[in-house]
Amino acid sequence: MTKIELNSLTLEELEKYMFIIGEKKYRGEQLFRYIHDNQGNEILDITVFSKGLRDKLERLGKISQMEVFKRFDSKLDSTKKYLFLLEDNNIIEGVAMEYEHGWTACISTQVGCRMGCAFCASTKEGLVRNLSAGEMANQIYTMEKDLNIRINNIVLMGSGEPLDNYENILKFIKIIHDEKGHNTSYRNITLSTCGIVPKIYALADEGLPITLSISLHSPFDEIRKKIMPIGSKYTIENIIKACKYYHDRTSRRITIEYTLIEGVNDSLEDINQLKEVLHNLNCHVNLIPLNPIKEFDKVRSSNSNINRFKRELNKSNISTTIRKEMGGDINAACGQLRRRYTGDIR
Ligand code: SAH
Repeated sequence: MTKIELNSLTLEELEKYMFIIGEKKYRGEQLFRYIHDNQGNEILDITVFSKGLRDKLERLGKISQMEVFKRFDSKLDSTKKYLFLLEDNNIIEGVAMEYEHGWTACISTQVGCRMGCAFCASTKEGLVRNLSAGEMANQIYTMEKDLNIRINNIVLMGSGEPLDNYENILKFIKIIHDEKGHNTSYRNITLSTCGIVPKIYALADEGLPITLSISLHSPFDEIRKKIMPIGSKYTIENIIKACKYYHDRTSRRITIEYTLIEGVNDSLEDINQLKEVLHNLNCHVNLIPLNPIKEFDKVRSSNSNINRFKRELNKSNISTTIRKEMGGDINAACGQLRRRYTGDIR
């Protein structure tokens, strides 16, 4: 019998679960608090439960755990990059970054990814498996314990495509937001997607006011398709429509991520078309200088092109920033760290 992963259940689900196994509903809340507020992971240590209940839960369920496999500390700022070892020996990445307003964690949602973006290291070996909600929460709790910090902001921008693991990210968001657990405000959660349109509508209808961030990377479908295979499935026009719907439902301003790649998406024509595309969308553009990887034979745009991009968009009243590089000395692009180390333990 496979054991149920108790830390992947929302409060409501835990309450139902307790009822199903013949316990009082409030035991669900006690267990939820133990896992997500106390960040405990030993069922046998839950002192508010009788020995009988602890034994029963231990037999039926588990609280999944992860270890810090490696940590890389920036010497330039407080950024820490993590490789976490999962129970099945898979490795994932996470990053903790310190800003003026507190710590932000960037977490993974899948082991690998099947989206196939040309410039991204996380996808080069395809999708291995989805992460559970508990494994997403564990990335946060493990960093908090390791650094003795409180994480205020969470970005789903590590390895994986969150909207390709929809059920689990939804549970994770509900769990991490619950005031009886970690109590993270929805406004402090950002989900980044390559643009899986039907799932953007589904997320909008959930009514959770989290920030939606779209990896656009080109305002031309023909170019976008070349660097992002998902572009063949959903057009830019349909992505923007979905973004408008998302904004209408949640009132949240959309973030547009745009990785600048020399000669691919950084010309004046690109700027002008991007203005067209974003015209009428309440959004903020985040320009990301490409982090070169060996499988992608391109370099980042020159500083003057990056600055021109920002200047021109701002001139058209499109709020634009250049992503501040955190941990520049440990700045392996998404997925590169993991790929360097997976060989070690398999
Ligand atoms: N799958 C999601 C989230 C993970 S990637 C998504 O596509 O949004 C997080 C962001 O980093 C995306 O905008 C992605 O396009 C970008 N990215 C990936 N590899 C990169 C690289 N080598 N250089 C710069 N940005 C990169």
